[in-house]
Amino acid sequence: MALKRRDLLLGSAGMTAGLAAGSLASGPTSAQAQQSPTKWDRDADVVVIGSGATGLPAAIVAQESGSSVILVEAEKDIGGHAITSGGNVPLGGGTSVQKKYGIADSPDLLFRDLTDWSVVEANGFPDYRYNDREIIRAFADNSAPSFEWLVAHGVIFVDKAPDAQGGNSVGNSVPREMHAAVKDWPMVQTGKPANPIIQATFSSGNGLMRPLEAAAKKAGVQILLEHKMTGIYRQTPSSGPVLGIAVDNNGTKLNIRARKAVIIGTGGSTGNVNFRRMFDPRLTEEYCGLAGMPWSNQDASGELAAISVGASLWGLYNQTGEFGSNVTKPGEIGCQYGYRNLQWMPGSAVFDRARASGLMVGNWQNVILVNMLGKRFYDETGEQFIANDYKSIDPYVQESYLNAKNIKYNPNNFLDAALAGIDDGHNGGGPIWAIFDADAVTREKWNPTPPNVDVDAGFFYSADTLADLANKIVMKYQRVALPPANLEATVARYNSFVDSGTDEDFGKPKPLYKIAKPPFYAAWATPVVHDTRAGLRINASCQVVDMNGQVIPGLYCGGESAGGFSQHGLARAACQGYIAGKHAAAETART
Ligand SMILES: Cc1cc2nc3c(=O)[nH]c(=O)nc-3n(C[C@H](O)[C@H](O)[C@H](O)COP(=O)(O)OP(=O)(O)OC[C@H]3O[C@@H](n4cnc5c(N)ncnc54)[C@H](O)[C@@H]3O)c2cc1C
Repeated sequence: MALKRRDLLLGSAGMTAGLAAGSLASGPTSAQAQQSPTKWDRDADVVVIGSGATGLPAAIVAQESGSSVILVEAEKDIGGHAITSGGNVPLGGGTSVQKKYGIADSPDLLFRDLTDWSVVEANGFPDYRYNDREIIRAFADNSAPSFEWLVAHGVIFVDKAPDAQGGNSVGNSVPREMHAAVKDWPMVQTGKPANPIIQATFSSGNGLMRPLEAAAKKAGVQILLEHKMTGIYRQTPSSGPVLGIAVDNNGTKLNIRARKAVIIGTGGSTGNVNFRRMFDPRLTEEYCGLAGMPWSNQDASGELAAISVGASLWGLYNQTGEFGSNVTKPGEIGCQYGYRNLQWMPGSAVFDRARASGLMVGNWQNVILVNMLGKRFYDETGEQFIANDYKSIDPYVQESYLNAKNIKYNPNNFLDAALAGIDDGHNGGGPIWAIFDADAVTREKWNPTPPNVDVDAGFFYSADTLADLANKIVMKYQRVALPPANLEATVARYNSFVDSGTDEDFGKPKPLYKIAKPPFYAAWATPVVHDTRAGLRINASCQVVDMNGQVIPGLYCGGESAGGFSQHGLARAACQGYIAGKHAAAETART
């Protein structure tokens, strides 16, 4: 029986204490340059920061190579965004599973796919053109070994041929996407195991990260939860080796010495408003629904701590370019955390922080989307930026000029319109509200009450008239009043488009439903920030490189906090963790 992700997540009881995921950081973080301490509280050969898709593999590899390892994790539980993920892992280059299914792949083919200048999205943006060749070569050479390593460390992948489903930017020549089976691990989204019927076939980050947690413990990695790295110690702020890190454990300050190396696996920067606005000034505070929160944040603490000891950033276009899932259209509305592939349910350990599950939108014909002034801005059925995968260019001939020439220009500008603002001199598009009526609730089979919607924090409103609804919308990010007359006029005009069958303003394909039957609703439907694809400059060994192009001795990084690699998620993080762990363990210990 085929069950959808939604079915899996529905229904569970009991609330448990939440985790302490930080809120979006808009001021300076605490990761500052540090004076070397006079006293170390703990020490290990290798210190890993973050227990996500980079950190756990890095820690296990280093420990199994004979180094002692301390892993610090800011949150109450391991896993980072990786455990909340779909578990779709595009590792290729000739894996045992590719061979089993007769798929001819190689490190060279993978390398050329991920550096192919001729791959262009339908909106004209090149996915891979700005990838750092040295970093991609290392990924291509270590991709299949990383996959086999995951399998050897307890990750069970769904038993089927690799495909292109669920991930993005996975390459064009051959299918590479593998899917971690959820098995019977309790899911962080619900607090319960998935339905037994689909435990071997349903892909989830829980099935990736819980086996790795078990492998790390078995290997002897010391995992310190609720230990947040607040700074990196280097001999001097701009010279000599990295010596260790400063940590905050619920107010207690500790210094942890690293005799060989520190590995940064802190998961990126899109949760830090000032940091992310270096790449896109539009991404102001109202984009508060970061995918993966509130399980864990990505607050740029790794990047800032490394910069404070001289590190450089790298491959910045990959964060600015309009492809993939750096910014996404929400999938659930009426809640703060509406990322389309992650719904928090009562029973999840973080539900008290998520506060609501949201209403999953099945058909965007059932709502209109308006900005802070109550005005529509785009066809509501419009989509987010797209991303490459196997067969997205068809036919695809590697490095042929015809690839770019054959792409039909077809921009997805929904997000650009949503982020455009209201012409009042401010950056950012402000809140976007989904407006709908009682008939839409019936059609979508929604129950628009808590805990499905977040009334208390101002992410959901209802009223018997449109004017009352507009007047009720008062919340932190709604920095201007929503004029009731605007909302009434917008709905009246939209209803006339339903009568005529033509959306004269934004070309929505045949508007289907009037908004007419009270009560009326306004649900938060603001875009969601997600991936970090630009970060610290690293080399092929995942060593962090400074502004002079020199390696910072004893400092490594991988995953979303590392730059130079435009690919969504898990594969590059796991592979770079694998590379970093190996090289860090091979360093000579300082006495
Ligand atoms: C809902 C969702 C679905 C996804 N689905 C997929 C998918 O199917 N396929 C795919 O390829 N990718 C997917 N991704 C992306 C993927 O999960 C991430 O790219 C990947 O987890 C990044 O790995 P990382 O190690 O860089 O960061 P993370 O996995 O986020 O780990 C970072 C860890 O560092 C910790 N940390 C941060 N700062 C500090 C600090 N100062 N001190 C101590 N600890 C710190 C964090 O708490 C976190 O635990 C998804 C992401 C989300 C949110």
